[in-house]
Amino acid sequence: MSRYWSAFVHNLEPYVPGEQPKLANLVKLNTNENPYGPSPRVLEAIQQENCDRLRLYPDPASHELKQAIADYHKVNTANVFVGNGSDEVLGHIFHALFQHAPPLLFPDITYSFYPVYCQLYKIDYQTVPLTPDFQINVDDYLRDNGGIIFPNPNAPTGCLLALDEIERLVKNNTDSVVVIDEAYIDFGGETAIPLTQRYPNLLVTQTLSKSRSLAGMRVGFAVGHPDLIEALVRVKDSFNSYPLDRLAEAAGVAAMKDRAYFRQTCDKVIESRNKVVTGLQELGFEVLPSAANFVFARHPDYNAAELAAGLRKEGVIVRHFTKRRIDQFLRITIGTPSENQHLLSVLDTLV
Ligand SMILES: *Cc1c(COP(=O)(O)O)cnc(C)c1O
Repeated sequence: MSRYWSAFVHNLEPYVPGEQPKLANLVKLNTNENPYGPSPRVLEAIQQENCDRLRLYPDPASHELKQAIADYHKVNTANVFVGNGSDEVLGHIFHALFQHAPPLLFPDITYSFYPVYCQLYKIDYQTVPLTPDFQINVDDYLRDNGGIIFPNPNAPTGCLLALDEIERLVKNNTDSVVVIDEAYIDFGGETAIPLTQRYPNLLVTQTLSKSRSLAGMRVGFAVGHPDLIEALVRVKDSFNSYPLDRLAEAAGVAAMKDRAYFRQTCDKVIESRNKVVTGLQELGFEVLPSAANFVFARHPDYNAAELAAGLRKEGVIVRHFTKRRIDQFLRITIGTPSENQHLLSVLDTLV
C-alpha cells in the first residue's frame, strides 16, 4: 500500500545493521559488542527502578545521567546531550547542525550510517578518500564545507587519528562544526572532549554500547559548546521528549560511575586484541593498526567473502562489506579469549 507513503520514503535506502542471528552457540564477532557484560552495579540499578516507578514518565532531560557524564569528563551538564543510543544523537546532529549549502565532508570508508542520515535530511555531502594506507589526512578536509564528521578511531578500519591532528583540524575549520564520533575511543585512543572547552565548533559523541557493554540499553551522548547542545535539544524536543527510559538512565548512571569495572574490561579487550592481531599475522593476514575493539584484516591469498562464509559454516560470524577498496577485508570483533581462540583455529583450517 505504498501509495499512502510520503513521497521521499520511496527512495530511502535505510542503514543495514549487522545481523543479530537467532541461532544459539554462535561465536558472534560481527557487531562490535563487548564480550563482557555490563558492570554488576548496572544490574543492581536496573532492579531498583521498580515497577511503581515505571508507571511514571522518565526525566525528559535525563539530568542524573548528564551529571554522571559531566562528572566523568570534567565538563558542565550544559555541555552534555544524551539520546537513545549515539545513532539517535547523530541523527539529531545531522538534522540540527549539518543542513547547510556547502557539502558535509566525511571519509569514503567510514560508518555507513552517515550517508543514510544525509539522505533522510537532504544534506549534500562529499566523501574524502582515506590515504592508500587507510588513514585520515586532515589536510584533505581543509576546504569549504558545511560540516565534517568521522569516527575516531575510524570504523571499520579501527585506525586512530592523533589528538593534535584533530585539534589542527578544528582550529583551521571555524566556519562549520567538526563532529568526532568516539564510539571506540576507550579501546586505545585519547578523547577530544577536553578540546570542546576551547573550541565552540567541536562536538564529540560517545556511546555506552561498546566500552560500557550496554548496546541493548541504547544510551549515547554528545559533548560540546552549550550553543551546539541547545540546537540538539530543540530538535529532540520537537521529536521525542523522552528518548531515554528509566531503565536506560539508571543503567547509564551506574555504568559511568563504575570506573574500575570499565577500565578492567577495556584492558582485557585491548590485551585480547593484541593476541588476535599476532594470531592473524601468523596466519598470513595483513591487519590494520587498531585502537578499537575490532580488527580489520585481509589475507593476500584468500577471498574475504569466502573466508567469511567458511567461518560461518563453523559457527563464527564476522562482518564483510561488499564495498570498493575494502571488499577483501574482514572486520572481526574482539571476543572473549576462548572465542578468539576458536576464531583463529577455524581460520587456521581455511588458509
Ligand atoms: C556502534 C557505533 C555507533 C552507534 O552506537 P549506538 O550508541 O549503539 O547507537 C556510532 N558510531 C559508530 C562509528 C559506531 O560504530
